[in-house]
Amino acid sequence: MKTQRNIFPVIKNIPAPILILFLFLLFPAGSLPGAENTPPPPGNPLLSPTGNFTFGSESILKACWTEEELQGSPEDKQDRSAPSGSSSPPERTGPKNRRAPLPPELQNSIRSVQPSGGEKILALTFDLCESPGEITGYDAGIVNYLRENGIRATFFMSGRWMRDHPEKALQLMADPLFEIGNHSWSHKNLRKRSPRKIREEILWTQGEYELLRENLAARPCVRNAGETEMDRIPPVPLTFRFPFGTCTPEALKFLAELGLPAIQWSLVPDDRGDDHSSPQIARIILREARPGSIVVLHANGHGYHTAEALPKLIPELRKAGYEFVTVTGLLTRARKVSNFSDCFELKPGDNYRYDFITGVTALVPQR
Ligand SMILES: [Zn+2]
Repeated sequence: MKTQRNIFPVIKNIPAPILILFLFLLFPAGSLPGAENTPPPPGNPLLSPTGNFTFGSESILKACWTEEELQGSPEDKQDRSAPSGSSSPPERTGPKNRRAPLPPELQNSIRSVQPSGGEKILALTFDLCESPGEITGYDAGIVNYLRENGIRATFFMSGRWMRDHPEKALQLMADPLFEIGNHSWSHKNLRKRSPRKIREEILWTQGEYELLRENLAARPCVRNAGETEMDRIPPVPLTFRFPFGTCTPEALKFLAELGLPAIQWSLVPDDRGDDHSSPQIARIILREARPGSIVVLHANGHGYHTAEALPKLIPELRKAGYEFVTVTGLLTRARKVSNFSDCFELKPGDNYRYDFITGVTALVPQR
């Protein structure tokens, strides 16, 4: 008690600027009393003091690939059948890098956020799904449009897709516009998998990302790009997305322990297959976009008209004042995160139909 009484005369004698600096060090911005209830950033060591993340390095991108290699080709979009032996596990089944467990506000299944100060920000996300038996494609039209127009986006990669498209995966990882998320190893309905299998689906993909990143780090082109440039590429994917939007409480708990927020979606233009034309996809997004929305699209060739839809919707959203951010950028600038203890497509219970389809995941629509 005596100590507490004696603090105040000490504080009174400290010059005001030093006292303010001390308070800022003690309570980082956002946690100061009276500040908005912003969730802490999800432990990203690359978070800069201005709140901007680094997700890649322009110097590495330029030093390691030619313009032509980055452009890709329309043929990259095609599906192929997987060769025999493609079901083997990855070389690294346990990632070396682990992240801090998630704070409560980032646990459960995240569908959208309320941005701080009502900022008009939204996250475009593109899934790169790949199931056993198939090698899905890479939609160069989508990536090239995003690059040409400086649009930030997030790519959720299944581990098998990464292993089957190592150069494309590395180009996306190295690009500072793009964030990479984990979309499970083999795109199964995780609600129907055992806890051990669920862990494998998550950890194998984290491990595959690390292997690819190490492969890139060892290349001479990276040394030419600059000594510290590799530090700009996150050591592991920072978020996870459940295939089919199906999860279990155990899977959500495991992700929370691993420090991976489960990022689902709030806006589904249903770009899979041929059902929706590009004007329809654009119309749905323009009609339903809200500040804090998470839009789910596909860049594995299964979004038949997605690339054509982008020029129809991006300029309109920009005109309406929207800024495009990655999912981690969205979380960092959130006042409140909208999360649920269950996973679903648009409303609770709407994806239970996937549970009746077993062993044929490649035949049902992918998300
Ligand atoms: Zn998917």
